[in-house]
Amino acid sequence: SKIAPYVNEPFTDFTKEENKQAMRAAVAKVKSELGREYPLYIGAESIATDAKITSINPGNVDEVIGYVSKADQALAEQAMQAALNTFETWKKVSPRARAEYLLKAAKLMRERKLEFSALMILESGKNYVEADVDTAEAIDFMEFYAREMIRLSVINETLPLAKIAGEDNFISYIPLGVGVIIPPWNFPLAICVGMTTAAIVSGNTVLLKPASTTPVIAYKFVSLMQEVGLPAGVINFIPGSGAEVGDYLTTHPKTRFISFTGSKEVGLHINKLAAETAPGQIWIKRVIAEMGGKDGIIVDETANLDAAAAAIVASAFGFQGQKCSAASRAIVVESVYEQVAGKVIALTEQLQVGLPEENFPVGPVIDQASFNRILEYIEVGKQEGTLLTGGGKAAGNGYYIRPTVFGEVSGKARIMQEEIFGPVLALAKAKDWKDAIAIYNDTEFGLTGSYFSTSEERIAEALETVHCGNLYINRKCTGALVGVHPFGGFNMSGTDSKAGGYDYLLLFTQAKLRSRKI
Ligand code: GLU
Repeated sequence: SKIAPYVNEPFTDFTKEENKQAMRAAVAKVKSELGREYPLYIGAESIATDAKITSINPGNVDEVIGYVSKADQALAEQAMQAALNTFETWKKVSPRARAEYLLKAAKLMRERKLEFSALMILESGKNYVEADVDTAEAIDFMEFYAREMIRLSVINETLPLAKIAGEDNFISYIPLGVGVIIPPWNFPLAICVGMTTAAIVSGNTVLLKPASTTPVIAYKFVSLMQEVGLPAGVINFIPGSGAEVGDYLTTHPKTRFISFTGSKEVGLHINKLAAETAPGQIWIKRVIAEMGGKDGIIVDETANLDAAAAAIVASAFGFQGQKCSAASRAIVVESVYEQVAGKVIALTEQLQVGLPEENFPVGPVIDQASFNRILEYIEVGKQEGTLLTGGGKAAGNGYYIRPTVFGEVSGKARIMQEEIFGPVLALAKAKDWKDAIAIYNDTEFGLTGSYFSTSEERIAEALETVHCGNLYINRKCTGALVGVHPFGGFNMSGTDSKAGGYDYLLLFTQAKLRSRKI
């Protein structure tokens, strides 16, 4: 049967009382089910371990979301064997049949959107909109990668090889083998689903090690895949510590690829471990890494300053600044700097901090370690710039930090160079628009950026010279849509992969040419 063309999942409008009400009801339902225990899945086995990861609500730290079983090296090895065995059968399942599992899962997730979003509100501290777009993106990834696999499977028809006399030539994309999937907690559903389903729809089997702060939502996704009948052993679910399970599998001779999203430090560590050849290893491991950002918004004196300020605040403080795409810098041309700073401060001060389940615009950061790190950066900021608003923790039984803005920060300052991953924004003053672009480009990262201007000439130059993977003109630098804005950055932001784009599945496959004399 024919598959409808890909379209993005629409977002829910929470200005409508009925939608808000429905989300509140979903949160109440999820709350009535908190504190359960969750097993690992290895092959066809569901395994409960004594050791558990306790997942808590970062917005109300006394509330336990669930107790999730924890793999050690022995269980990781068992999972590797299950994934290796299953690969032998899974790689023979047709691309179309593999894609069907994703399409079925997308359909069920769409029906249960509120439930998935409500769990993320409680486990990751997202407000209603942030949770809703996360679930929508998860659905999009499955819809998009399913179609992408089908497209790749007929590449010979759509993009035929050059013909020569006396031969038939045929190219196809075959899977790699067993992959280790290490997703982040900041898009605990979308990115976990995207990374996992891209790998499996391409014919690989995986060892999924979810983020330790958000394992319950990952579990919920894995059970959905079971419900749609995905064969056991295609996704092996093994929460555990990075140092123990992550490193063990990264260095394992049978690991064919590692797909990682997270910090630069961990990404580089994985890349280094993966570069070693273990005894018995017969390939070069592939590393697909999406790492940090020091993203920024540039505003020149011709820009619509209200739109620019609104975009800066949305990009800096959406989900508490905990997106790789978050604008932690704004670089403003001198002549309009004071005006933009004033607007940014005013909008920031309107943002109330509080419980995600009550849908406050700003919620908690993810955990104690993040909380401490961000507060330290705020102290650094006080040395490096002028504190314009915020500047410390906020009230509440969780990891709450006030949205914080520093002004007059120099381009070389630590808070202009290092990824903070929290609600902290640095404003820098540029001499002119070219200086602003130079300041923007002067970091080791290159993930997202925005340029605000009404000058066609400058926009044309910015499009060429602002060096980042996702460059936006006159809009915020967060909120990439699957299939619309393929997402991923340059330099220390990762391996230049583009999630939600037409090149992505190639990273999980290898091309085999079959040539036959006729
Ligand atoms: N794709 C997300 C966005 O455009 C960011 C993903 C991330 O934080 O890793 O906002």
